Amino acid sequence: MRCGWSAVNVKWQTARTMSSEKPSYDPGRIEPARQAAWAEQSAFATRGPASGQPATYIKPSSPFTSGNLHMGHVRDYSIGDAYARFRRARGDAVLFGFGFDAFGLPAEMAAIERGTRPADWVERCGERMLAQMKRLGFSFDYGRAFYSSDEAQYRWSQWLFLTLHAAGMVYRDNATVDWCDTCQTTLAALQVEDGRCWRCHNKVRLIRRPTWFLRLSPHLEENDRNLAELEASGKWDELSLKTQRYILGRSDGVELDLVGSDGEELEVFTPHGDAVGEARFVLLSPRHPEVERWAGDAAVAEQLDELRSGGWERSARDASAVPVIDTGASIEPAGGGSLPIFVSPIVDARYGPTAALGIPSVDEADEAIAARMPRAAVEPFGGGSSAGLERREASRYRAYDFSISRQRYWGTPIPVLHCEDCGVVPVPIDDLPVVLPRDVEPTGEGNPLAERQDFLQATCPRCDGPARRETDTLDCHFDALWLWVPAAVPPADRDEQMFTHPDLEQWLPSERLVAGNDSGGFVFDQRVVTKALREIGPFAFLVDGEPFAGCLFHEMVIADGRKMSKHLGNVVDPDELVAEHGADTVRLAVLYAAGPAKALNWTDGALRFAARFLRGLWDYTHSRIAAADNAVEDAEAAADTAFIRERLGKWCDNGIERIGSDLEQLQMHKAVRNVTRLLERVKDYEKRVIERRGQLSREDHEALLEALVLLARALSPFAPHIAEELLVALDRDPSVGFPVGGEAVAASIGQE
Ligand SMILES: [Zn+2]
Ligand SMILES: [Zn+2]
Repeated sequence: MRCGWSAVNVKWQTARTMSSEKPSYDPGRIEPARQAAWAEQSAFATRGPASGQPATYIKPSSPFTSGNLHMGHVRDYSIGDAYARFRRARGDAVLFGFGFDAFGLPAEMAAIERGTRPADWVERCGERMLAQMKRLGFSFDYGRAFYSSDEAQYRWSQWLFLTLHAAGMVYRDNATVDWCDTCQTTLAALQVEDGRCWRCHNKVRLIRRPTWFLRLSPHLEENDRNLAELEASGKWDELSLKTQRYILGRSDGVELDLVGSDGEELEVFTPHGDAVGEARFVLLSPRHPEVERWAGDAAVAEQLDELRSGGWERSARDASAVPVIDTGASIEPAGGGSLPIFVSPIVDARYGPTAALGIPSVDEADEAIAARMPRAAVEPFGGGSSAGLERREASRYRAYDFSISRQRYWGTPIPVLHCEDCGVVPVPIDDLPVVLPRDVEPTGEGNPLAERQDFLQATCPRCDGPARRETDTLDCHFDALWLWVPAAVPPADRDEQMFTHPDLEQWLPSERLVAGNDSGGFVFDQRVVTKALREIGPFAFLVDGEPFAGCLFHEMVIADGRKMSKHLGNVVDPDELVAEHGADTVRLAVLYAAGPAKALNWTDGALRFAARFLRGLWDYTHSRIAAADNAVEDAEAAADTAFIRERLGKWCDNGIERIGSDLEQLQMHKAVRNVTRLLERVKDYEKRVIERRGQLSREDHEALLEALVLLARALSPFAPHIAEELLVALDRDPSVGFPVGGEAVAASIGQE
């Protein structure tokens, strides 16, 4: 793009107020003033899109209402905000909105710790975090902010549950689940780290209980297939694609049908297509739909039961320790050979709930299992040769359905009833919401809902008999499945049209998700649910079933090379930083310190750099404004330095172009570096003029100020307060942001 250096040739008309004293840079004064001006003008309220105007929905991460903003939030929102401001300046209609992920364990634990109600705690945190966001100058549409724990919001979580349930995407099954004795709750796989609870870090154990599941399997293949296209679009960064592929856990190989001597078929998979003839055994997942067929023997069935309720996923990756059950059965394909059938969860850990060939000669894990199982010593299945064995290319996914129930209070009540006569009965959609009592002060033990008779007792909608409400609540992971939707619907219309509002088609898919790299699981499941809702109807317009056209994941903010934690005493408090240095400095430092794909190791160095740069730019701009007031007209001198001014113009054009392209790719660290280089160029220009003529002529001054206008605009996405103040000092409209082509700049000059 060409960036309007032509503006320099427009005659500069000084309408500036003459002022001999240079104001000093005081973020504590200018930042609240700019923020008040934005609020007064509703500067960031969502508008449009007008017809033909590009619509950009930038989705930041949804914060847990668990306390204060931390530096990870500051990083996330500084990136998203710079991008939002850039896109607005480019003329896009921008939706930059979010909601609080307010249900769930973190809020409940915090409330327990403080002896308060989660409902009150969440409200207090939300208010505090909103104030912090505003003080940092983030240009969210705050009018669209919401809490997942609001009745108006979770009513739709319940709607989604019932809708997915009706479509077979949510089901109830007796299953082994991770259970934390301390938290008295089941945990999703993502919430278990090395066999320990993500919240309290105590060891989890396994129990069997009826649990609600979200079914992922029907959409795994499409989630996989779409990745190539998302990658080709260039809008999904490497980190975000990597997490999606990791969660899928795809293995490529072959599958073949083994037909036993009794005519029974079994489809088996292996990634070692060339070595199938060397197979020595078959491994079945304990979740394989036909596992009971091969485990008919009472003793084997008992072992299998024990396996399912006893830690099978914990050790599943270690082939030397993973449980393996010999079913005693073999499959003896008509073509010859014999393969003993074992059951082991190592199949799940590697390929998902399937059947796999054990080929010790080419596979280390299979070798380790063969060494433990005497019956694996039979003849190789194809006599060692793969020839003549019919194979099909095939893939398997490790990703599997996950539990969405929790036995805790602070969550969306699961809208089902238990009736003695009718069994499990969904609550009719017209009866929603099932209201969560808010006047509960949990203690951390058990589930308070099970003790609330006013919650518990209900009438069965089928037989009018007495029924008991489900006391499990939905994991906040379930709320998150659609937490990206409400911001796209005007608040007044959410009650009626949350999933049917016409604006949804304008804003979705979100142009860019900006989130921490620990959001991969959320994104994966959001992608699954979008595809389900496309098939069910509401999101039929999202043809490829993708909620995010682009995705930027960033690494976390650390200190001294370690994760920030209260325990380590290395937590950096954004409030303190803002109070001491100002929001612009903190934002600039966070953006400058590292590219998004790298962990940001917080040091004072980046902060000092940002503070020095901003103060330097402030002082320089003000001193040059003052100097220009005394500039002398000198036609001969001006002609003599025309070529230097022209060079400055080229530097500015190049600089703006580079910064714009960095912004386009959300490479904010590069963009900030290029902003600082642009100031060096401007100073270099001035030096050259002085070297040649001893001083700047009026034309030289005007060009210098014009370059400073461009510089302030280029800075505005990153450090908006100081940028706007400088534009005011330069007698320009402060609301005109990043320069995007000659027209935008010319228009702003036309306003003088
Ligand atoms: Zn726990
Ligand atoms: Zn009934």
